[in-house]
Amino acid sequence: MSLQLNVTKKYGGFELAIQTVIGNGITGIFGPSASGKSTLLNCIAGFEDPDGGQITLNSKTVFSSSFKINISPEKRRVGYVHQHSALFPHLTVRQNLEFGYNLTEKYRRVGNLEDVVHLLQLEQIIERGVTHLSGGERQRVALARSLAASPDLLLLDEPLASLDLPFRGFILEKLREVSRGWNLDMVYVSHSVSEMIALADSVIVIRNGMKVVEGNASLLLNNSSVADYVDYGSFENILQGVVDDSVDENLSALTIGDVRLITPKLAAEKGKQTTVSIKASDIIVSKYLPAAISARNILKANIASINHSENSTFIDCEIGGRVLTAALTRQSVLDLGLRTSDEVYLIIKATSVIPMELY
Ligand code: ADP
Ligand code: MG
Repeated sequence: MSLQLNVTKKYGGFELAIQTVIGNGITGIFGPSASGKSTLLNCIAGFEDPDGGQITLNSKTVFSSSFKINISPEKRRVGYVHQHSALFPHLTVRQNLEFGYNLTEKYRRVGNLEDVVHLLQLEQIIERGVTHLSGGERQRVALARSLAASPDLLLLDEPLASLDLPFRGFILEKLREVSRGWNLDMVYVSHSVSEMIALADSVIVIRNGMKVVEGNASLLLNNSSVADYVDYGSFENILQGVVDDSVDENLSALTIGDVRLITPKLAAEKGKQTTVSIKASDIIVSKYLPAAISARNILKANIASINHSENSTFIDCEIGGRVLTAALTRQSVLDLGLRTSDEVYLIIKATSVIPMELY
């Protein structure tokens, strides 16, 4: 997919002016509140008309002020999921999905309805009305309805902002699965650095309607132009793995790449995928293999980079092809004499690993 954007849009004192090219995979749009993220998505979807510019999606111009082109939202083949997506209240879950499905000509359909129902685990609620669904269920239905229409591009505007941890984990997993497995490109708006790092292949940072910087999602951890509004203290590593055997009645093991992580008891069965979260501030970094220590996870890693922000220092540690980010104070980094490419041990208590499971 390729999405070429060159849009301007004014609202009173606010002006959006963005020029960029969005490529394959999941592109994150990151920025503080009122920076124009939703306005940008609305212009792409066709729900707002830019004042000027051009939007080209897969070499088809869907908007052009100079050529007076403005393709209607239904014809753009763009899916859209918001924080509070509206479902059709008088329809059942199945009828909501059928609406999306029937919008799409047969030859364009990627999967069938049952694939989508299965993917988002909607079997239990498929015949229910939508008015009494929980927030997490509604978001799963909203995502399913968008996917059922086999869009060429999926726009997601803070879809996890009002969800609990388990639903966040579930939806993040599914978005990744759809992005890779169905080859569906996405533009994902969020102000959570953790979600961006977990999900986005690249990010565009916007502020006051302007693009500030773009690149790999890890730039959010070390770029001075974002440092003042990112809540680094809450940064969490969101990791997907495969459930290994259980360790005892209270603990499970999760295989993430080459790493085996001891976790609290997981609900997912052996061999299944699941997602966990580890706060960067819960990872202890040691230069030496600790001897007598009760923490269940002691993982050998290499420091890939050290990034200083105002209040903490982030140590990106490479381990079995993955990166785990630990947050330390600047002083402890100095005290430990940590440097890039040092070998270190990461100490993580099993209870610091938080399952993000639905069950
Ligand atoms: P974000 O999604 O990054 O929080 P928005 O795109 O929603 O930001 O809003 C950007 C700015 O544009 C804000 O100042 C907002 O008040 C203004 N704005 C957005 N939509 C409208 C509208 N329909 N009418 C007037 N002002 C709007
Ligand atoms: Mg918004």
